[in-house]
Amino acid sequence: MPELPEVETVRNTLKNFVLNKKIESIDVIYPKIIEDDVETFVNSCINQTINDIDRVGKYLVFKLDNIAFVSHLRMEGKYHYVDRNEPVNKHDHIIFNLDNGKQLRYNDTRKFGRIKLVSLQNYRNELPLSKLGPEPFDATCNELYEKIHKSKLPIKHVLLEQNIIAGIGNIYANEICFAMGLDPNTPASNLTKKSVQELIDVSCKILNEAIKQGGTTIHSFSANGIDGLFQVKLKAHMQKICPICNGPISKIKIKGRGTYYCPHCQKRRR
Ligand SMILES: [Zn+2]
Repeated sequence: MPELPEVETVRNTLKNFVLNKKIESIDVIYPKIIEDDVETFVNSCINQTINDIDRVGKYLVFKLDNIAFVSHLRMEGKYHYVDRNEPVNKHDHIIFNLDNGKQLRYNDTRKFGRIKLVSLQNYRNELPLSKLGPEPFDATCNELYEKIHKSKLPIKHVLLEQNIIAGIGNIYANEICFAMGLDPNTPASNLTKKSVQELIDVSCKILNEAIKQGGTTIHSFSANGIDGLFQVKLKAHMQKICPICNGPISKIKIKGRGTYYCPHCQKRRR
């Protein structure tokens, strides 16, 4: 699943192609992707220009002339920017026909992604974005500490809760715990304010590094996908050997998600 850095890379890449292009028409092949009434969605977006693309957590926000729509890629969602005569792929579900003869296609093998209209001025205060916690970049230690210091849930679980902190998914949650030398099973309530500040700092560092690598390895046309992720050097997630102690990486499940950590280097706090 694309996490904050991948979505940021998609955003930056898409901006190179679709900004200032007008949406002439929209072909909705698989309507369930769109959470609104399909006709309303189409009528709201056609003849509008894509003026900007924002990102909030893992959501993209396409800002048009007088409306916006949010797009969540979920597991496998991708945007492709192609010529109109390019054969339609069976996983292309929504096709935006742009006024330069190109198409922006939403492609999703799993069909879990969703697109929804929001207001242009106030989208951060509307669902689904209003339920998100701050991104690590905007999080404050006191606020995050208040939210988690009574939670007995494992810290890894808490990192995945988008209403507490937005943008982190399974891969970067594993990497953040590894970078902190923190056992992912540590109850959130065990973290002192100092550890919470460290959690924010390490999260920012890891996400920023990933954005930087995504940004440098993804170039124009391969940019359509989200292969930036695979360029990032992961230290714990899906790894077998700890790069610090050369011991084995353990795999357990937390919140049903594959959790990789080094039992030697990652300790419970307190
Ligand atoms: Zn180790």
